[in-house]
Amino acid sequence: MPAVADHLAAIRERLAKAAERVGRTASDVELLAVSKTFPVEAIQEAIDAGQTLFGENKAQELLAKQPALPSRLRWHIIGHLQSNKVRKILPIVEAIHSVDSLDLAKDINRIAAELGLFPKVYLEINVAAESTKFGFSPPVVREQLEALYALDRLEIQGLMCIPPFSANAEDSRRYFVLLRGLRDDLEKLGGAPLPRLSMGMSHDFEIAIEEGSTIVRVGSAIFGSR
Ligand SMILES: *Cc1c(COP(=O)(O)O)cnc(C)c1O
Repeated sequence: MPAVADHLAAIRERLAKAAERVGRTASDVELLAVSKTFPVEAIQEAIDAGQTLFGENKAQELLAKQPALPSRLRWHIIGHLQSNKVRKILPIVEAIHSVDSLDLAKDINRIAAELGLFPKVYLEINVAAESTKFGFSPPVVREQLEALYALDRLEIQGLMCIPPFSANAEDSRRYFVLLRGLRDDLEKLGGAPLPRLSMGMSHDFEIAIEEGSTIVRVGSAIFGSR
C-alpha cells in the first residue's frame, strides 16, 4: 500500500478512537485532507484510498490543481482569501473556513448573489489574539454577528480556529474549549444554530475531536512533511 493510503488508514482509525473516547462516533467528524504544496499525484493516491474531501489554503493553488482531478471531489478553502479571488473559487468550493473579517464576508455575499450561490462558510476566530494570524477576535465577532447574519447568501456553519503551534498538543485544548464556548455564546446571541467547529490539525486533531470538532484539517500526517 502506498504511504498516503497507509497514513489515511491510520488517521481514520485514530479519529474513530478519539470520537469513541467521548461518546461520539467517527461519522460525527469529517476528515479534510489538506493537500497544500503537494502535487496532484499525491492527491490521486488519497482518492484511490477513498478520500474525496480536500482542503487548500491558497486560491491560486486550488485553481491550478482542481481541473486536473475528478470533478466529484469536494474542495474547501482554509487559508486567508483575498476578495479578488472570491469570484473564481466560489463555483468550485463547497465551504470556506477562513472568513476572517466582515469586509470579506460582505464581498463573498455580494459575489455569491451575482453567481446565484449560497456558500457554506466558517468564521475564523483568532483565539490567542496573535498579531500574525487572521480572524475575528471574540469581542468583534459578538459585535458584528448581526451584520454577518444580515448577509443572506452565507450559510454560516460555525467557527474555525488555528491555535498557536506548540510541540505539546495538549496546549491546544484550552483554545478548542474557548472556541466551543464562544460558539455556544454566539448561538444564544444570534438565536441561530452554529453546529460546526473546524478545529484540529495533524498534531492535535484527537484533542480537537474530544472537545467537539466536527471537521479536522489534516495535512502533513497524511501527505508527509512540507
Ligand atoms: C496547513 C494547514 C492545516 C494542516 O496542517 P498540518 O499540520 O499539515 O496538518 C490545517 N489548517 C490550516 C488553516 C492550514 O493552513
